[in-house]
Amino acid sequence: MNLDLLAKFTVGLHNLPYCSFDICAILLNALVLVNFFTNKKLRNKLTKLFYMLAGCSLVASVFNLFCVLQSVFYISPTICGVLQLLYEAFYNLAGIIFFIYVAHLVYKDASKKLWCRVAAISLCSVVAVGLLFNIFALSGVMQIHKSVYGSIVNAGQLLSTACAVVIVALNRSKLSFTQRLNVYFFSAINAFANVWQILLIFDVIAYQIQISSFALSIAVLLVYVTLQRPEDEIDHVSGMFNSRTHLYRTNERLHSGKPFIAFVFELGNMAIVNTTFGIRGGNDVIKEMANRIRGILPKKLLLFRLNGARFAINFNDEGEYKEFEPKFKAVFEEPVEVNETKIRIAYTGCVIAMPTITDQVSDLEEILKYYRSIAKASDKVLIADKEAVEKSRRREHVEYAIQNALKNNGFEVYYQPIYSVAEKRISSCEALIRLIDSEIGFVGPDEFIPIAEETGKIVEIGHFVIEEVCRFIKNDCPQNYGIDFIDVNLSVIQCMHPEITDDINAILEKYDVPRNMVNLEVTETASAKSYALLQSRLRELHRSGFTISLDDFGSGFSSVEYLINFPFDIVKLDKALVWAYMSTEKYEPILKHYMPMLHGLGLKIVAEGVETKEMLTALEELGCDYIQGYYFSRPIPKAKFIEYIKNAAKGVLTA
Ligand code: C2E
Ligand code: CA
Ligand code: CA
Repeated sequence: MNLDLLAKFTVGLHNLPYCSFDICAILLNALVLVNFFTNKKLRNKLTKLFYMLAGCSLVASVFNLFCVLQSVFYISPTICGVLQLLYEAFYNLAGIIFFIYVAHLVYKDASKKLWCRVAAISLCSVVAVGLLFNIFALSGVMQIHKSVYGSIVNAGQLLSTACAVVIVALNRSKLSFTQRLNVYFFSAINAFANVWQILLIFDVIAYQIQISSFALSIAVLLVYVTLQRPEDEIDHVSGMFNSRTHLYRTNERLHSGKPFIAFVFELGNMAIVNTTFGIRGGNDVIKEMANRIRGILPKKLLLFRLNGARFAINFNDEGEYKEFEPKFKAVFEEPVEVNETKIRIAYTGCVIAMPTITDQVSDLEEILKYYRSIAKASDKVLIADKEAVEKSRRREHVEYAIQNALKNNGFEVYYQPIYSVAEKRISSCEALIRLIDSEIGFVGPDEFIPIAEETGKIVEIGHFVIEEVCRFIKNDCPQNYGIDFIDVNLSVIQCMHPEITDDINAILEKYDVPRNMVNLEVTETASAKSYALLQSRLRELHRSGFTISLDDFGSGFSSVEYLINFPFDIVKLDKALVWAYMSTEKYEPILKHYMPMLHGLGLKIVAEGVETKEMLTALEELGCDYIQGYYFSRPIPKAKFIEYIKNAAKGVLTA
């Protein structure tokens, strides 16, 4: 008995070279499966198909190993036949699953494509026929030469991979180069193994080595590292799913036709965190907040990180969201610790019913950006409506138009004359930017300046305006027609920029323009944001030789303190205040009180928005030093403006 066992074991050892490929295949498949299982990934059709593919490959190689080592395991020829049959079944199934996998990669919903289904069923039939022949042969019902059924079974695998190659070749644009290369590689490796097998069956080659299951496991590994790649779905900063996965997953839900709630939110004050603690500190905050939210989210729901500090969650219904909302708000109450400093992170959230409000995934972030720009305070969750979708799309178009205009010279500077009461002539003007986009037409600065401020493009725009004004002064010489200086609006974001003074000075030097030809205007809202920094920037500019105006005085943030502590030379009464003065008696004492105070501080006063002769007289009587408004002229292009001031110099004022 012992001798018998030893003999069998020796035969087993003798078979080892034949089964070493199977052992490698088992190890490789097991490794891929364990790695895939432990990695964070999406649970979608592709994931399931990949599990099936690797699973089939593993099972096939196990069955094959038993067949090869039949003598060691005391396996009877009948059982061995069954095992062989099972091996062939799983081996071929892997080929068919690979075809379905590729079909899903290429088409978003391959199961809805009739021909894909027909192809999969046909492949199954070919394999089933091959296996049937095999069963007949095994049970002795039919005398079939092994080459017949063997070839059919291998041909089934060949056919499956060939089908995968065909759909990839026909849809080249839908897959990347590496993805395509992999499908071809998978197919080539398997084709080689199958052809080898067929040649073995026909005794063309005598080297009795089973390489099919090993070839399959190599191909599965290749699919894993290049096609499946769970790490491609993950955002490496937050550890959550990334925006690409969000797009894929949300589109998948939209295709299913079942309504759901998309919740998008953005962490506030991240710009401050990034400037104070650097990108690493910012990333720590993103990670910490993402983990906290993940912690309060039911397991089956996913947290996606979109761009910047924006995140998204898709809820099945409103009830599910409502349950989450209070926990979400509570998460932000506890401060986050960065570099031993505790900071409270703010948020803006937005609830969007899909597909009722929108069926475009690209709208989600745009709606959030739009709400963030209009929300007066942070820590708010807003419910999106159709109007928000329209407005956010418009905002996106404007953002695009700004970028486009910066690239293609699409901005133009208009000039509006300003009348000097004392000199009774046009003595200055204000430069006002205009944007005319070839697609969306005219966009007013009131609309695009706030967007440019949010996106940071205002710095480039501001640079362009100053350069354009300097070029105008140098080339068209408005100073020869009585223009003493030109007002240029400075945005708060521009003012905060550390290089603002050097930047402006460099432009003036480039065009040889004296500092006193440019008067800079800043708004009161600007000064409310970062008092100390703005103060030091304006002092710097003032020291350089620029005069400075406080714009929109009386529009809501008035504080006498600013007038004292900031180096202002001019105050511009906001047009709303001017109009209120003209229409409501109550404003008369207020303005009459302001005038001596402002003059007492050594400031010149400009009245904006003067549209009629009556307004002009009233404001002159009030004591304004300068008058600006449609009464004299609307803002006009530079050529027209030159014409206007030439006429004005001749004493022909056109209103
Ligand atoms: P602002 O600085 O208060 O500019 C005056 C605005 O009042 C201009 O609007 C001008 O066209 C308008 N206006 C002047 N007189 C009258 C009038 O008699 N009646 C009426 N109804 N309106 C009058 P605009 O050009 O649409 O500019 C709007 C705002 O956009 C500006 O307000 C300014 O804050 C901003 N802006 C314009 N150009 C620039 C720029 O180059 N840089 C920056 N940062 N902001 C700019
Ligand atoms: Ca202004
Ligand atoms: Ca103004």
